[in-house]
Amino acid sequence: MADCLFCNIIAGKIPASVVYRDADCIGFDDIHPAAPVHVLFVPKRHIDGVSTLTEADRETAGQLLLAAATYARSKGLEAAGYRVLANVGAGAGQTVFHLHVHLLGGKHLRGRGD
Ligand code: AMP
Ligand code: ZN
Repeated sequence: MADCLFCNIIAGKIPASVVYRDADCIGFDDIHPAAPVHVLFVPKRHIDGVSTLTEADRETAGQLLLAAATYARSKGLEAAGYRVLANVGAGAGQTVFHLHVHLLGGKHLRGRGD
């Protein structure tokens, strides 16, 4: 989509710090990191977000999660733990309407146990 920020990053028209690539997805550093590691994983094919996923997107959705896990493993993030999340809809903080998951790690992330 011509007017989609993440499609433009995927096309190389807008610069980003790309840290992960595979056949279906790329991962790049979030421009406003909320943790020492904050990478956005996005499918190369435009999908608006989690709420518009259909059966046709099954493989892409799985690949996206696998990409985040593969990257986290390569960086040894699982020992300390990390978070993978998606904001769904403007009311939940989604600001870019191209499917993505945030990978947050590299520091202690507060949870219910804290
Ligand atoms: P969300 O709010 O869940 O839709 O996530 C969108 C994320 O994209 C935010 O965390 C932004 O900081 C991030 N972002 C916005 N513009 C850029 C950019 N040009 N490069 C990298 N990350 C960006
Ligand atoms: Zn897009």
